[in-house]
Amino acid sequence: MRYISTRGGAQALAFDDTVLAGLAPDGGLYLPATWPVLDLGALTSLDYAHLTAAVLAPFAQPVIDAATLEAICTDAYRGFGHPDIAPLRPLKPGLWLLELFHGPTLAFKDFALQVLGRLFDHVLARSGQRITIVGATSGDTGSAAIEACRDRDAIEIFILHPEGRVSEVQRRQMTTVASANVHNIAIEGTFDDCQALVKAMFNDKAFRDRHALSAVNSINWARIAAQIAYYVWATVRLGAAADGVVFAVPTGNFGNVFAAWAAGAMGLPIRRLVIGSNRNDILTRFFATGEMKTGSVFPTLSPSMDIQVSSNFERYLFELYDRDPQAVRAMMTEFATAGCFHVDAAHFERCRQTFAALSLDDAATTETIARVYRESGVLLDPHSAIGVAAAEAACADGNGVPVVAVATAHPAKFAEAVRAATGVTPELPARLADLFAREERCATLPAELPAVERHIAATLAGRGAAA
Ligand SMILES: *Cc1c(COP(=O)(O)O)cnc(C)c1O
Repeated sequence: MRYISTRGGAQALAFDDTVLAGLAPDGGLYLPATWPVLDLGALTSLDYAHLTAAVLAPFAQPVIDAATLEAICTDAYRGFGHPDIAPLRPLKPGLWLLELFHGPTLAFKDFALQVLGRLFDHVLARSGQRITIVGATSGDTGSAAIEACRDRDAIEIFILHPEGRVSEVQRRQMTTVASANVHNIAIEGTFDDCQALVKAMFNDKAFRDRHALSAVNSINWARIAAQIAYYVWATVRLGAAADGVVFAVPTGNFGNVFAAWAAGAMGLPIRRLVIGSNRNDILTRFFATGEMKTGSVFPTLSPSMDIQVSSNFERYLFELYDRDPQAVRAMMTEFATAGCFHVDAAHFERCRQTFAALSLDDAATTETIARVYRESGVLLDPHSAIGVAAAEAACADGNGVPVVAVATAHPAKFAEAVRAATGVTPELPARLADLFAREERCATLPAELPAVERHIAATLAGRGAAA
C-alpha cells in the first residue's frame, strides 16, 4: 500500500516512511491510495490481537509481513487487563458499551499507541536509526505515549507537562515509569507553554536533526489504522456483519470517529456515526450548519476533548470531496487564515447521511453519569458518558440495529467527576493499585527553550555513554 497526502503536494510513500513522517511535508495528512476490502467472514473467529494484525496487514504490505504484524499485535495487547481486550458490555436493550479502557494507561489511546511504539521500533531497527520522541501533554496522551515507547531500543522519549496542572493520577502514570529511555519534564508554566516549547524544538532545525526528533501525535496514519480494528471487532462480535451497526463516539480531534468511518469505507456495514462533544462543540456545530468555525477552548470535565481544531477532519474532507486535494487545500487555507470554512449544500447533505452529532455541557455529562449508574450500576467516566448520551439519542431514532457507545476512559481515571455525580469512588484496577506508592522521576525546568534543549541534549549524551 502507498500513502498519499490530502493536499496533493507530497510524494506517495510506503507504510514505514508514512509512519515515521507523521504529517506530510505539504502540510496534509496521509491516507492509503485505496481502501482495502475487509473479509468479515475470515475475521469472525480471530482473537483481538490477530484480528488487529489482519486489519493492518493490507495497510502494511509489502513492508511488514503478516507474521511480524501478528507478533507485534500479540505483544502490544498482552498487558491489557481484560481477556477480551475490548469487551462489549450490554447496557440496555439494543445498546452496548465497547470498553476501550483496559490498556496500561486506562484510555483508548493505548490501542493505537501500543502498536505504534512497536512499529517504530521494528522499522527503526531495520534501518539502524534511533529517534527522540518529544511531546507535550495536558494529561492523557503523555502517559499513553510513554507506556508505548518505554523500553523500546531505538527510542528515547521526553514528555513535557505543566507543573502542578495535571491530576496526580495522570502525573504518576508518567513519572513512575522506571524505564531508562523515559524522561519526564515538568515545565514551570501552562500546557500552552509546553506545546510552544515542543513546537520551537521542532522548528530549531539544527537541534531537530542532531537528535532525530519525532512525534507520535494523533495525525499519524498508523494510529487510525490500529483503531479501525475495534470497530470491526465489535461488529463481528455482535453478529451484526449482515444487518449493520451504529457507533457513538466521543471525539474532539475526529481521530477515533474517522477510524470508524474508515472501517465503513472498507466494507463494515455502519449505518450511522454519532459524534459526542463537550462544550467545545466545533464538530457538533459543523454537523448542524455545514460551517467549521473555531472558537476559544473551555476547560470541561472531559479534558481530552477540550480542543477547537479537529485535525483529523481533513481526512474526511478529502474523501467527502472525492479525493480532490485542491478542494481540501482551499478549505484548509481558509481555516488557517479566517478560522472558518464551510462545505456547500450538496456535500453537507452527504455528511448528514453518515454523521449525527450531539454536544453535552458539564451539567448534562454529570447527569448522564448519575442516571446510567442508577439505571444499570455502571460507572462511566465523563468522556464515555458523552458517548452513551450520543448513543441513546441514536437508539431513540430507532432503526433497530445494535448501537455501540465507545467508552474511551476508565472511570478511575476521572474519579473526581465520577464521585461528584454518583457518590461512588471508582477504584483503580489491581495492576495500578500501588501507583501512589511508586517512586517518581521527573526534572523541573523553566519554560525557556535553551534550558529545555540543554537538558535534553545532556540527557541524551548520558544515555549514549551508557548504551
Ligand atoms: C483522546 C481522547 C478522546 C478524544 O479522541 P479523538 O482523538 O479526539 O477522537 C476521548 N476520550 C479520551 C478519554 C481520550 O483520551
